[in-house]
Amino acid sequence: MQGFYFWAWRKGLRSKPFLQDRCKVSRTHVKNRFKNRFKIVVSKPNKLFMNIRIGNGYDLHRLVSDRRLILGGVEIPYEKGLLGHSDADVLTHAIMDAMLGALALGDIGHYFPPSDPQWAGADSIMLLQQVQGLIGAQGWRVNNLDAMVIAEAPKLKPHIKAMRDRLSQAMNLSIDCVSVKATTNEGMDAIGQKEAIAVHAVVLLVQ
Ligand code: MG
Repeated sequence: MQGFYFWAWRKGLRSKPFLQDRCKVSRTHVKNRFKNRFKIVVSKPNKLFMNIRIGNGYDLHRLVSDRRLILGGVEIPYEKGLLGHSDADVLTHAIMDAMLGALALGDIGHYFPPSDPQWAGADSIMLLQQVQGLIGAQGWRVNNLDAMVIAEAPKLKPHIKAMRDRLSQAMNLSIDCVSVKATTNEGMDAIGQKEAIAVHAVVLLVQ
């Protein structure tokens, strides 16, 4: 005779009703412990998904001669480049607009107007880091981003990894949180005629 039953025997509390009552209490205690554990498990996902914001960005620049083609901070060899006041990095611009849009902070034209000479030829990666500082000051950070570059030419597949590397380093993100994809416009409209490159981007922010 051991444990509780030995203690009950020593105290003379050996009646059947008492033991049954103790057993009921014991079972209730076990049930409560199970419920508490279940509550902890349930509360974890709620906490994870509490503060998130999503934003989308779009940009398009014309392809012209005598300009460098820069996408995601990477210079891509091509006979034409994108026209713009800054370095015209259409990919980085779309990502910035998505980040600002997630917090309803307006668009990049508001922060870096093309009429301001200080942004002439500006490195868009530097502007991206400024936007990251802006959202960081409000307690937000980028969780991941997904961008789709629409370009008929040049072929971007060999440069995708370099663009993801450059953006992930600039934003201090793991490379698997930075997705850059490319497609064509099947020869349709200005993009299909190799006169422009456009980008759609989606960014998820977390707090
Ligand atoms: Mg732009």
